[in-house]
Amino acid sequence: PMPQQPDITLVTPTAPIAVATHGGRAKCLQRLVRLDLPVPRTVVLSFDTVLEIANGQMPDAGMILSQFEPGVLLCVRPSSEDPDWGGPGAMMNVGMSAERRDALAATLGEEEATRLYLRFVQSYAVHVARLDPDEFEETEAAPDVALAAALRAYEDEMETPFPQDPAEQLAGVLRSMARAWQGTTARLLRQAKGAPADAGLGLIVQQMALGQGDCGSGVMQLASSETGLEQITGRYLGRSQGREALGGASDVLYLERDPRGPSLEEALPEAFEVLKQHSALMRHRLREEMQVEFTIQNGEVFILDGVRVPRSNRAGVRIAVRLAEDGIIPREEAVCRVEPRALAELLHRQVAPGAERDVLGRGVAASPGAATGMVVFTASAAQAAAARGEACILVRRETSPEDIRGMHAASAVLTERGGMSSHAAVIGRGLGVPCVVGASELRFQTRRKQLIARDGRVVRDGDTITIDGSTGEVLAGAPRLIEPVLDDAFRKLLGWADEVRDIKVRANADTPEDAETARMFEADGIGLCRTEHMFVEADRLTVMREMIFADTTEERRDALDLLLPMQRDDFRDLFRIMAGKPVCIRLLDPPLHEFLPTNRVDQQALAEALDRPLSEVTRRVEELTEYNPMLGMRGVRLGIALPEIYDMQARAIFEATIAQDGGEPVVPEIMIPLVTAKREVELVKTRVDAVAAEVRTRTGADFDYKLGVMVETPRAALRAGDIAPYCAFMSFGTNDLTQMTYGLSRDDAGRFMSAYVQQGVFPEDPFHTLDRDGVGELLTIAAERGRRAAPDIVLSICGEHGGSPESIEFCREAGFDYVSCSPFRVPIARLAAAQLAL
Ligand code: PEP
Ligand code: MG
Repeated sequence: PMPQQPDITLVTPTAPIAVATHGGRAKCLQRLVRLDLPVPRTVVLSFDTVLEIANGQMPDAGMILSQFEPGVLLCVRPSSEDPDWGGPGAMMNVGMSAERRDALAATLGEEEATRLYLRFVQSYAVHVARLDPDEFEETEAAPDVALAAALRAYEDEMETPFPQDPAEQLAGVLRSMARAWQGTTARLLRQAKGAPADAGLGLIVQQMALGQGDCGSGVMQLASSETGLEQITGRYLGRSQGREALGGASDVLYLERDPRGPSLEEALPEAFEVLKQHSALMRHRLREEMQVEFTIQNGEVFILDGVRVPRSNRAGVRIAVRLAEDGIIPREEAVCRVEPRALAELLHRQVAPGAERDVLGRGVAASPGAATGMVVFTASAAQAAAARGEACILVRRETSPEDIRGMHAASAVLTERGGMSSHAAVIGRGLGVPCVVGASELRFQTRRKQLIARDGRVVRDGDTITIDGSTGEVLAGAPRLIEPVLDDAFRKLLGWADEVRDIKVRANADTPEDAETARMFEADGIGLCRTEHMFVEADRLTVMREMIFADTTEERRDALDLLLPMQRDDFRDLFRIMAGKPVCIRLLDPPLHEFLPTNRVDQQALAEALDRPLSEVTRRVEELTEYNPMLGMRGVRLGIALPEIYDMQARAIFEATIAQDGGEPVVPEIMIPLVTAKREVELVKTRVDAVAAEVRTRTGADFDYKLGVMVETPRAALRAGDIAPYCAFMSFGTNDLTQMTYGLSRDDAGRFMSAYVQQGVFPEDPFHTLDRDGVGELLTIAAERGRRAAPDIVLSICGEHGGSPESIEFCREAGFDYVSCSPFRVPIARLAAAQLAL
C-alpha cells in the first residue's frame, strides 16, 4: 500500500491533544510544555493513526522525521488512555546507523558510540524484526566485536543488511509497537484492568538528549512511594538512557545527599536544584505527586516524562491529604482519590509486599489481615497458647459459639467449611481477627490433629503457618509482615469524608471491646449488638445452660436472675463507651442448643455443675437438637415460647439506661430478630412495655426507648406494611435474608460458591455482594410498604453487606438512614459514603 500522510501533532502549548485521542502520556507532556519546562521536541501520533498503522497502512516516517533536525536520535514511547493499561516498551536510539555511530564517536568516544549502536541493533532485532532474543543477548565481548556479531546475525536471519535509513527504522518501530498493542495477550491484560475492548494507543516520538561531559539520566520524586511522606527519592546514572538508572548498576547516584553513597546533589548541585524546582512545579500544577524522568546534558536538565508516583495504599492516603493541605487540591478531591477498599490494608497487619509466599492452599478471604502462629485444633488449645503468650492459628472444620473464646485467643482462624457470612467469618471480622473459611482445598484431619496441604505436605499441631485473610491464602512458615497504621493522615481524610456524607455508618458491636473499636473508628453508633455473644465466658455460659435446662418457669427465672446483672453491666458499658451515640440491642437470636456442650467431656462437666445425671444432660441436648436449626426455634420464636428471656434482657437494658450518670440521656433501641408476622411484634412489644413500666414504677426514674424489628425473612419484607406501625425502626438483616431468599445455607455455601461464580450462575457471592435483583427487590418492597404505613420509620441494613461500597450505594438510593457493619469496616464505609455523596 501507498505510504500515507500520518496524522501527527507537534507538542506545543496549543496543539489539539487530548487524553481521549492521544493518551495520558501525550497530554501530560503537553502540560509540561505549557509549564515551560525544558521538554525535548516531541511529536505525537493519535489513536486513529496508530490503529491504521496496525492495520497495515505504512506511515510516512519521513514526514515525522522532517519535524526534527537531521541526524538526531529518537525515542518512541506508548501513550494509552490509562497508564495502568500497559503498552509496548519504549524504543530508544532510533536513527542510529553506521554513519551516525562514526559521527558520534567524535563527541562520545568510540566505545560509547559503538555501545549505543549495539543496543539499538539488539532491541530492533528482537522487538521489531522479532528475531530470537538468545541471538542478541548482551555478551562479554568488546562492543565492536559484539556489534559485528549482532549485525551479522541480523543479516543471516533477515537476508538483508540492518536498515540504515532512519525513516525505514522509524516506520518499523511504529508498526511493531502498533501491532504489539493489538496482540491477544496485551489485550487480555488490559481488559483485566478495566480497559474497553477498543482502547486506543497513541505513540510519542521524542528527540533524545545525548551529550558529552556531565550527562546521564534518572528519575526523581518528591514523596516516598512506601510512606507518602515528603522525601526526595530516585536515582541518577551517568551516561545512561531511559530508566536505566533504576536497574542494578553499581555506579548509580542517590539524588539527595545520602550517607549510603555519592549523590547528584554533590556531583551536580546546580542541576539538582533545577530538577527539584521543576519537580515541585509539576506537583503543584499537575495537582499530583509525580515521578519525573529526566536527562542531564552538559549540565543542562531536560524533562522527558512525568508519571503518577507509584504508591502503596498507605502512601496513597498521605499523598492525597498532603496535596489538600498544601492547597493544591480541594479536600473533596482528596476524599475521592482514595479507593475505600484500600483502607482495609491500613487497619490490619499484612504480608509484606515481595515476601515469599509458600501457599499450602486457598479458601475464602473472610476477614482481612495476616497473622502467623502455631497451629492448634481446639478452642481450649488456643486459649492455653494465648495464656502462654504464644501466637496461634485456630484450625476448625467450622466454628460454633463454643469456639468464640478460642477465636478471641487466636491470632487467626482457618476453617474447612463456610462462606462470607458463616459463623467464623462474621466473628472474625467483628474481632478484627484474620480469617480464611471454606478452605476445602486442604484436608482437615482435626481428630488426628493435622492438615494436609493441596500438594500433600502435612501440617501438624504446633507447626507454624500464616493466614492471609486478605487473599484467602494459607501460607507455610512466617513470611515478613508489616504493621497497620492509623496515622494522622488517615484520621484527617475520614474527617473530611464525614463532612460530606449523607448516610450514617454504625458498627456491629457485641461487647465492650467491640464498642471501643467502633468508637476508635468513629462510628455513628452501634447498629447491632448480638447479645448472644455476651454469654461466651465460662461462668456466664454455665448459668445460661442452667437456664436452658430449667424444667419450670420458676427455675428458669432463678437462672435469669443471675444473668440479669451481667447483661446490665455489659449494656451499661456499651452506653458509656458510645457516649450518647445510639445503641441498638438485639434480643436473643440463636437456637438454644448452640449454647449446649456437644462433646462428652463438656457434657460431663455440665452434669457435674448442674448436679444431674449425665444421661439427663445428653437427653436434653438431643431434645433441643433440630433438623434445621437456622429455620427452627430461634429469634422471636424464643421470645414467644420462653418470654422470660426477653423480659430479663429488656429489664437489663432499662436498668442500664437509668444507671448512666451525667451526659446525654441514653435512648436504647431494642430489636426483635427474625420476625415473620405482626402478631409476634405485638406480643413482644406488650411485654417489653410492661417491663419498662415496672422499672419506671420501681425506680421512679423515667426514660425513653425505641422498639424495632429485624427484617430478615422474606415474609417480614413482604408484610412490612403490617409490621411497621409497631416499630420505630426496621433493620434489614441481609445475612439471613439472603440465606432465605436463595434457600442457600450461609454456613455451607462456601463449598460450591466458587463453582457457581466461576460458571456465572451468580455474578458474585451474594453473601459478599448484595444481590440487588432478588434480595434488593425485597428490600425495596419492604422499605416502600414500611414507609407508607409508618412514614417516620428509621431504615437501615445490618447484615455483613453493610460495609461494602456497593450496598451503601443501594442504601443511599433507597433512602436508608444508616448502614451498620463490622467495626473494622467502618472507615471503608465512611469513605465510600462520602464518595457517593460527591
Ligand atoms: C443478619 O441475619 O443479617 C444479621 C445481621 O443477623 P445474624 O448475622 O446475627 O444472623
Ligand atoms: Mg440474622
